[in-house]
Formats: sequence, structure tokens, C-alpha cells
Amino acid sequence: MGDWKLDKLTVRDMPVAGRRVFVRVDFNVPQEAGRITDDTRIRAALPTIRYLADQGARVILASHLGRPKGQASEALSLRPIAGRLADLLGKPVAFCPESVGEVAREAAFALRDGDVLLLENVRFHAGEEKNDPALAAQFAQLAEVFVNDAFGAAHRAHASTEGIAHILPGVAGLLVERELAVMGGALAQPEAPFTAIIGGAKVSDKIKVIENLLTKVDHLLIGGGMANTFLAAQGYALGKSLVEPDQQDEARRLLELARTAGAMLLLPRDVVAATEFRADSPSRVADMDDVRDDEMVLDIGPATAAMYSDTVVLSRTVIWNGPMGVFEMPAFAHGTRAVADAMAEVRGVTIIGGGDSVAAVEQAGVADRMTHISTGGGASLEFLEGRPLPGIEALRRKTGV
Ligand code: ADP
Ligand code: MG
Repeated sequence: MGDWKLDKLTVRDMPVAGRRVFVRVDFNVPQEAGRITDDTRIRAALPTIRYLADQGARVILASHLGRPKGQASEALSLRPIAGRLADLLGKPVAFCPESVGEVAREAAFALRDGDVLLLENVRFHAGEEKNDPALAAQFAQLAEVFVNDAFGAAHRAHASTEGIAHILPGVAGLLVERELAVMGGALAQPEAPFTAIIGGAKVSDKIKVIENLLTKVDHLLIGGGMANTFLAAQGYALGKSLVEPDQQDEARRLLELARTAGAMLLLPRDVVAATEFRADSPSRVADMDDVRDDEMVLDIGPATAAMYSDTVVLSRTVIWNGPMGVFEMPAFAHGTRAVADAMAEVRGVTIIGGGDSVAAVEQAGVADRMTHISTGGGASLEFLEGRPLPGIEALRRKTGV
């Protein structure tokens, strides 16, 4: 992967012993009826929290949860997360029912070296999403150092992700460092052959990702609903499939860009077509030129899955974003499954970004065979687009990199 280096200071570059450290984490975990259904994001923050506590820092954790829109709400309280975090850390985690003001200051200033405090949901304040400098200043009053470890929120310029870094010295946490090092390294200095697999529902969501990756990859494999728009642009009939007619010119432009960039852009040559968007709809494998008017394309076909798998297995660097079909329905999950299995065979770097792609890899049981599964859906997409992430930009630069 070469020696690509993050040009930002990290938590390891900063003396933290005995200091109050405001750590922005992403504890925006899925919950059902008050129970945490997936604690991946909490686990992902553990290395930074443990490192800081072991160094004798006084750790103040802040996160958002859901979309409270500036209003306090019992259902979106972080209180239950303090309990889960304490279990995972194996040490007590204090909870403060506020994230700023007198109550939060008292809690923060009562901490001893190595203690951990979790503040209430920062989005209970309207200034958070508006990046209000006054709110950022209130967060900053709690601490002496800012650590951003919320990769999943790094594409947002909010008071606790970006604004605060203009007041306190800001450095990257270990999760942010790893996310950027793996994805940045793969984009900047990939070992060839470099393959990107892009799928999901719509081309319009991912034009910029495709555009950025086309200048870097050897192969770009397209699947999912978005492949339909490319195929329609080439004149294929797609029946009742999801197609974005207003994106066909863009699709043609991207096909042309692939030619000039020397990237091999592959499209499905066969598909799984169904008459209804239902798990139990009758379906069949159809060649690309054989989709009927009353059918819709819901997965790549077996010949395409084999062609894509062959390309993936022989690659040394693979980035995957977006499922190959409607993988939530077993009848249309075969293409996604085949790609996931091929990713597991790669001798090289494998990176998964995007919420549904992560779910697909977990469903296939191959998550632990991947080099890196990004914790940031939106943030990883923006990173793959080549866009600067405001929560990272605001951190202190390393000198001499
Ligand atoms: P990610 O979250 O990994 O970035 P997206 O959100 O872009 O992925 O796309 C995932 C969605 O795309 C899934 O809900 C899946 O059902 C849908 N999808 C994939 N293929 C098709 C298709 N052929 N027709 C309609 N929807 C599709
Ligand atoms: Mg998604």
C-alpha cells in the first residue's frame, strides 16, 4: 500500500496525561425499542478511548444520536450507551445529562486521570448542526484538547466536529487515522490490479465516486440498479426496471471517461429479472438483450457474477460500494453474495464502504476477511469522491509530511 501518510496530527502526537480531552465519537448506533441492535460503532471507538485513559487523560466523550433537530428527547438520549460502553471498556463510564453549561462543566472538572465521561446528545442543541461558534466555544470550555474520532460524522461541519477545532488544538483519533490511512493509501498508491465495484440503487448518488475512481482504477465493475441506467444508455430495453432517464447522458459521459482514462468499465451481460418487486416474485435469468416489457432487473446474472468474481479475485486492491442487486430479498442476493465471497479470496487490500454494502458483507459471513470495513457510510462516499472532509480538514497539520 506504499507509504502514504496522514498529514494530520493524531492522538499519539499530543501530550494528554492529566488533561481534559474532548473526544467526538460516532455513537449513532441503531436501536429498537430502546435496545442497541448493533454496537459496531461503539467498539470502533474503543482503541482511542482506551489509549487516552491509559495515558491518564480525563476523557470527555461527545456524540450525536439520531435526528432530534435541536430538541431534547428521551428516546434519543445517549444514557443507555454509557452502560454498553462501560461493559465493553470494563470500567465505569459516568454520564452527564447535558453536553454544555454548568452541569457539564462540573462533571468535566470533577474527572480524575483515566476517568471517562459521556455527555448527552450534542444534537439536543440546535447550534450543533448549524456549526454555531457560540456552541463550539461552550464545548471547548470543557477541555484542553480536541480529538476527532467520529469518522462517520467527518463529512459534516458541525460545532462538535469542526467548529471546536478552531478553538482547541484538534488531532485525529485512532479510528479516523485508520479509516484515512487505509482508504487514502488505497486511492493514492494502490497495488495493481486495482478494482472498484460500484452498485446500489441510483447512478445519481454515485456519479462523483465513479468519476474519481475511474482515473485511478484498472477495472470498474458496475451492478445494482445503477447498472440499468448505463445499459439503457447503450440502447438495451430494461422493461419495468429502475432506470434514471435523466442520467443517461451522464452515464454516456462516464463510459467515455473510462475509455480516455484507460479503465475497463464492465457492465452486466446477464441479469435476474422478475415481474414484481417482491421476495416471492417469479424470476428468471435473462440475457441483457432479452428483458421483457413486464420484467424488472433485480440482480446481476450468474455469468456476470462469475465475470466480476474472476476480476476481483485477481486484484490486489479492491474497493466496494453498493450491492449488486436487491440483496435484502434472498432470490436477488446471489450476485452480491458472489462478489462478497470473491472479496474474501483477494490476496491484497479489500475495503468496504457504504451502509448497505457493509450489511451485505456481514450477511455473507465474510466481514472478518476484509482489510477494512468503513464505519462511515456518507463520509466514506465523500472521501471516495475525493472531497475534503471538514471534520478532518480542521485538525492540526503534521509538519514535514
Ligand atoms: P450503500 O448503502 O452500500 O452505499 P446504496 O444505498 O447506494 O448502497 O444502495 C443499496 C440499495 O440498492 C439496496 O436497498 C438495494 O435493494 C438497492 N438495489 C440494488 N440493486 C437494485 C436494483 N436492481 N433495483 C432496485 N434497487 C436495487
Ligand atoms: Mg445505503
